[in-house]
Amino acid sequence: MRRLFVAGNWKMNTNLASGKELAKGVAAEAQRLGDAIDIAVCPPFVYLSNVKAELAGSKVQLGAQNTWFAAPGAFTGETAVEMLKDIGCSWVILGHSERRQLLGEKDELINKKIAAATSEDLGVIFCVGELLEDRQAGRTETVLETQLSGGLANLDAAVLGQIVIAYEPVWAIGTGVTATPEQAEGAHAFIRGWLTKQYGAKVADSVRILYGGSVKADNAEALMSLPNVDGALVGGASLTTAQFAPILQAAA
Ligand code: PEP
Repeated sequence: MRRLFVAGNWKMNTNLASGKELAKGVAAEAQRLGDAIDIAVCPPFVYLSNVKAELAGSKVQLGAQNTWFAAPGAFTGETAVEMLKDIGCSWVILGHSERRQLLGEKDELINKKIAAATSEDLGVIFCVGELLEDRQAGRTETVLETQLSGGLANLDAAVLGQIVIAYEPVWAIGTGVTATPEQAEGAHAFIRGWLTKQYGAKVADSVRILYGGSVKADNAEALMSLPNVDGALVGGASLTTAQFAPILQAAA
């Protein structure tokens, strides 16, 4: 039985005061829900420690939105995995479509980052997903396969215990358009099938696959009750407790 996981990707949003307030609100909701699900929030780098302080004593985990793959050293502007661990991060989001598209991150770089994070026991939320033009051209599965095999290249099955995959169709991110339950379940089942081929059924059955793309209070339950959907990566609707709490409740 896979434990549901809901993570909030705050992207480049909040300020110090609103980030702390939001963390407090999520921690209070997590307390109300007990131990039924895993919850994480992923604030901007500069607020990670402040948010961590607000989460003290809470089961809500902390995630970063990126990392560099090398050990600390001369990489101006970058952040090493061991620094993220040092300040209490349990997760890092890698392969997000905004970084793929706006910052040109390729599968090879994402693979190095995944390898670095998992080698230091930092959990990875590994995002994959197709563009609208890929879906319309019938290329969804090819794109997913390329991103999965590139991002996970040369990683052995044991590493999969530290990886959560997030299926995020790019056309659904921040657009208000959500994949239908059929589209989401189809992609998730494809990803699980691919994992089965690569790593065997036991590993594939244990990997959590989150859905991301305009998840809101009114669609969260339908999506997270699908057989191969094991939670959600939430962007816009994770920015207020009022919107995020019902999504957590739908998972719990
Ligand atoms: C995301 O950026 O990971 C995301 C899913 O965003 P949104 O929920 O706003 O579509």
